[in-house]
Amino acid sequence: MLKIGLTGGIGCGKSTVAALFQALGVPVLDADQIARELVEPGQPALEAIVNHFGPGIVVAGKLDRARLRQLVFAAPEQRRWLESLLHPLIYAELERRLASLSGPYCLLVIPLLLESGRRSFVDRVLVVDCPEPVQRQRVKSRDGMSDAEVDRLLAAQLGREERLRAADDVIENAGAPESLPPQVEQLHRAYLALREQGPRLPSRIGHDAIDQ
Ligand code: ADP
Repeated sequence: MLKIGLTGGIGCGKSTVAALFQALGVPVLDADQIARELVEPGQPALEAIVNHFGPGIVVAGKLDRARLRQLVFAAPEQRRWLESLLHPLIYAELERRLASLSGPYCLLVIPLLLESGRRSFVDRVLVVDCPEPVQRQRVKSRDGMSDAEVDRLLAAQLGREERLRAADDVIENAGAPESLPPQVEQLHRAYLALREQGPRLPSRIGHDAIDQ
């Protein structure tokens, strides 16, 4: 099964694009969803987080995600600690779920795929791209974050240019949502064709955003 890694900066439109692939019948696994499940009450990862950050990180038995976010953004070494705990568990769980999927290809939504040095986990990297001012605006209106919070989040992620350089394929999401389905359908056809051709992958699909 061909593994397409869908990545992109926060707010660029990964979830929106993933839903369009899913509507075409493509199996989708979401690393963020797995990360949330891994820290549910009773999970070993939650216990490790409580041991590390102290019992104040749990409120009414549940992880205080906002508090954890504050702590890790204030201290890069804490972020690295948390990532070194969760990333291996997330990739192991992705592997486990992959084993039960079937179809010509699947989409793995992995926001930090490139940042975590796991490019080789997937066969092909699909980047959802938009200009930074658009990205900031979307994050602010979706999550109610301040400019400073968005700044910190973006500083922890790859820059747009670097991410685009690593892309095999690109979905450009600077415009209206209506521009997405045709791009998703084009890629869907290309991925189905790729699966039939075997491992020899053609050059980049959806290249328009690259040369801007
Ligand atoms: P990500 O999963 O990459 O963080 P989302 O798919 O959640 O991004 O999109 C971020 C926000 O922007 C969401 O509120 C979404 O509804 C909105 N959004 C996504 N694409 C567009 C678009 N083309 N036009 C307007 N809003 C969009």
